[in-house]
Amino acid sequence: MRRRTFLIGGALLGLATPAPAVTEGPVRVAVAPPSPQPGDVVLLQISGGPPDVRADWDGRPLALFPTAHGVAALIGIDLDVRPGHIGWRVTRPSVAKNGGALATGAVTVRARTFPTQPLTLPKGMVDLDAPTLARVETEREELKAALAAGAAERLWRGPFRIPVDGGQPTGGFGLRRVLNGQPRSPHTGYDWAAPAGTPVLAANTGRAALVAEYFFAGRNVVLDHGLGLFTLYFHLTEVRVAPGESVSAGQVIGTVGATGRVTGPHLHFAVLLNGARVDPEALLRLAPPEESPL
Ligand SMILES: [Zn+2]
Repeated sequence: MRRRTFLIGGALLGLATPAPAVTEGPVRVAVAPPSPQPGDVVLLQISGGPPDVRADWDGRPLALFPTAHGVAALIGIDLDVRPGHIGWRVTRPSVAKNGGALATGAVTVRARTFPTQPLTLPKGMVDLDAPTLARVETEREELKAALAAGAAERLWRGPFRIPVDGGQPTGGFGLRRVLNGQPRSPHTGYDWAAPAGTPVLAANTGRAALVAEYFFAGRNVVLDHGLGLFTLYFHLTEVRVAPGESVSAGQVIGTVGATGRVTGPHLHFAVLLNGARVDPEALLRLAPPEESPL
């Protein structure tokens, strides 16, 4: 069979004839921020290419969603990711066997240092007895199952909002905690000190993936925003959403409290993006892509 060569997005691809007419322009890929730090949320936008592109990041396929100019994906840089290069690739499955990627690139993850926080808590809150350890393990499994059952389409739209009105942001994402002299897992959320009873608001549109009462998290809500993105709200006094219920951005889902392992009333707000523990502040400052007209 006679073979013809096409130029797609700068890549030379040998295609068997007859080949479809290629009318698309070259693929453009924008990655922001281009040099992320641990905890960052990266927005990868693909435009100008054929409609059936795929993309992978660090060798794993990305969940793409449509935008006004193509498709995009959110990538979480976990707080424990080491500095270095992470490669990405945009491919077109229909021609992949003939030549592979339409575009490739890499980001450089910069180092980020998190401060250490020594904390003194009652001994029973740090050195857990056997029944409490078993309870914590069961809760961890339940959360894992809820995270694994997330929506396969994007539920969020537009910017993410601060989940509490007023209050005093105390932050603390990534703090290396030392409890009663023992190094423990880092603080993966962002805290707002606020009086008990202050309304807690959904950071964006989603669905209640979990409503529970846990040893560490206290009364808590996990919202599923689709495509592997979840926001978590801990230590609530009251919950005002039912498991499985759809919520709109800014809807009251509960109230600030001091349930679980805490030293005072506050909202602990955390974000998981396909398993990566990301900085809630990074999600709050995300400039979302222009939506595709429906
Ligand atoms: Zn916290």
